[in-house]
Amino acid sequence: MHKIRRYRNPFLPLARPDFAEWMIIMMEKFTKGALYQCSMCGNCILQETAYVCPMLCPKGLRNGPCGSGSTDHCCVDPGRPCVWHLIYQRAETAGTLERLLEVQAPLDWSNVGHSTWDHVVKEAQAHNLLSPFRILRDTEWGEGISRLFRDLRQPDWWNGDDEYHQPRLADPVSKLQTALKNGEFVVTTEIVPPAGINTATFAESAKRVENHVHAINVATNPMATAHMSSLACSLLLKDMGIEPILQITARDHNRLSLQSEMIGASALGIRNVLCLTGDPPKAGRVPFQGLPFDLDASQLLWILRRLRDDARFLDGRKLDDHPKFFLGAAGSPNDPNPTHEALRIEKKINAGAQFLQTQLVYDLSDLEQWLEALDARNLLSKVYILVGLAPLRSLEHAIFLEEKIPDVTIPPHFINRLKQSSCPEKTGLEITQELFQQIKELPGVSGVHLMSIGGNEILPQMLEGIDFDLQKTS
Ligand code: SF4
Repeated sequence: MHKIRRYRNPFLPLARPDFAEWMIIMMEKFTKGALYQCSMCGNCILQETAYVCPMLCPKGLRNGPCGSGSTDHCCVDPGRPCVWHLIYQRAETAGTLERLLEVQAPLDWSNVGHSTWDHVVKEAQAHNLLSPFRILRDTEWGEGISRLFRDLRQPDWWNGDDEYHQPRLADPVSKLQTALKNGEFVVTTEIVPPAGINTATFAESAKRVENHVHAINVATNPMATAHMSSLACSLLLKDMGIEPILQITARDHNRLSLQSEMIGASALGIRNVLCLTGDPPKAGRVPFQGLPFDLDASQLLWILRRLRDDARFLDGRKLDDHPKFFLGAAGSPNDPNPTHEALRIEKKINAGAQFLQTQLVYDLSDLEQWLEALDARNLLSKVYILVGLAPLRSLEHAIFLEEKIPDVTIPPHFINRLKQSSCPEKTGLEITQELFQQIKELPGVSGVHLMSIGGNEILPQMLEGIDFDLQKTS
């Protein structure tokens, strides 16, 4: 593996450990530092990640890749491979892929800089697992040790697992969920929130498409630049009678702000929540924001699902009522390894995702392979899939999408059609309309998520030009 530099030294406690602990810290630091480039996060999950340290991910993601990079390049540091793709490859070789399904806890920051070994030894002593008699004679010693490791990485306040959890309420909680449950072919789109306090243009954009879509996503700080909050804009849409999909990112939340904002959102009637990792901080214009993040997308889902279904905060306090959420996540049908991607999606579904909105798809063979991989893991009945599509506006636009958006491939025959066309704008629209119709026929697909890269003026024209009757439940 490449020698990888770190973006931030973890917080190190100022209190001096006693000599015995200091010795263990030094031994662990030098041994694991040499073998795994360990930075002493104090919350070691190496056994779960095929002995590749997940803290090598600049974002500190502990549950899988973010989807902004590619197998070849990390999105924060393009000079290195994505650490999570290395973890998948190593786990596949070792036959431990399924272990990656367990939803790992966020860091307990109070352990950072301390020794995991010391922690393990103390717990093992407390459970009498180090007595030679037990090691040699107790047939259940091995089980006791794996239980101990599980308890250490899954503390009571988190309790992550690798199982699917049926949502507490079978009835839909939003118009979007109702439409999907009724089997309508759903169309969603997204609007960038204002970069200021004037909402007129935002409202105009929403009005332009409201009769053509079931719901509108409100992006959150797109390209890591500050905009009006997704929550404020979602409320604005709701007041206009338009169904919003609130987007939240792990980049912009820690575990406290997430819970407080989301119970507020639920109290204000916002139901659809799309949980994302967020564009890399370096995409923004302000000086590089701190890394790693406190949470990742799977952890956002896990926290919100439990907040909703158990009506409990992460610290165990009971809420006065159950918040209502219809939870979504992102999917990457263009991932070169659909088997790994299906595993990542299964983890998100287990954590709480009920619908997926995918990255842009132009190559339907990629999409079909991805759907097959999801089907092989029996996931299609557990999640609604909305396939990402952006109208092609011109040859330059198609080339831009292929070159600038990670993992997006525009098949050569589309590029040739655009090159040979006397009116590439019209041809681009026709290609997108054809793709829309073909996607609509694919089993397992519940709708299309139209991304309006370059403005949404084109969407009504595109949707009116195809044989598609938008039904809306209400
Ligand atoms: S998971 Fe934490 S303790 Fe384990 S090797 Fe990585 S940085 Fe070190």
